[in-house]
Amino acid sequence: MNQPDKLLLWDIDGTIIRTKGAGESAMNRAFSEVFGQGGDLYDIDYSGRTDPLLGKMLCEHYGFPYEPESNQAFVDAYVRHLSAILADTPATLLPGMNVLQDLASRPDCLQGLLTGNVRSGGKVKLESVGVWECFAYGAFADGCFDRNELAPRALEMAFEGFGLEFAPEKVFVIGDTPRDVECGQQVRACTIAVATGKYSVTELEAAGPDFVFEDLSDTGAFLSALGIGKPFSPGA
Ligand SMILES: [Mg+2]
Repeated sequence: MNQPDKLLLWDIDGTIIRTKGAGESAMNRAFSEVFGQGGDLYDIDYSGRTDPLLGKMLCEHYGFPYEPESNQAFVDAYVRHLSAILADTPATLLPGMNVLQDLASRPDCLQGLLTGNVRSGGKVKLESVGVWECFAYGAFADGCFDRNELAPRALEMAFEGFGLEFAPEKVFVIGDTPRDVECGQQVRACTIAVATGKYSVTELEAAGPDFVFEDLSDTGAFLSALGIGKPFSPGA
């Protein structure tokens, strides 16, 4: 069978899953645990930011000097709290996300993650809804403050890990925030915005994505945006 000629790069929060505030609660608890006070994300625009950047922003907000060691302790505590919170209050898959299993089985697609989550946090979230195995790899935000660094990294990882290079028009970045769109535009990818997070269709359109959807429940329309005419049927 042919090797993959499309690379799909997915954001997690607000795109694949909704966590009912689990991420925010885990961050707040982690910050209080590591720094002994504060830790409320209320005043911070956190959507589309990387986890390590949020730790740095919280430090700045509460007047603590940024130190790599304490930020790593914050991230580690965050993942531990996140795991506990999701065990009590599971994440939910957003509409249409059964398509992840179908896309993972297609030989013409390589499916990865492009996310502000650290790897361990993204794994906890996606395992909680049973779709972690749908992704061949991920460009995660461990040690990264700038989400825009992650798209080139995702392309490098596709080459290093699978020996695959993709033309920009065959790379699809799928996310729920203007920052996801910007991230995809950095590598001239096709950008697909979905209004299942905090941003409306109108707000997402302002970022100039190639496609905008209210949600991805219309699988046929989404596959068309990917240049796929119909769902893949093994043996068909
Ligand atoms: Mg998101």
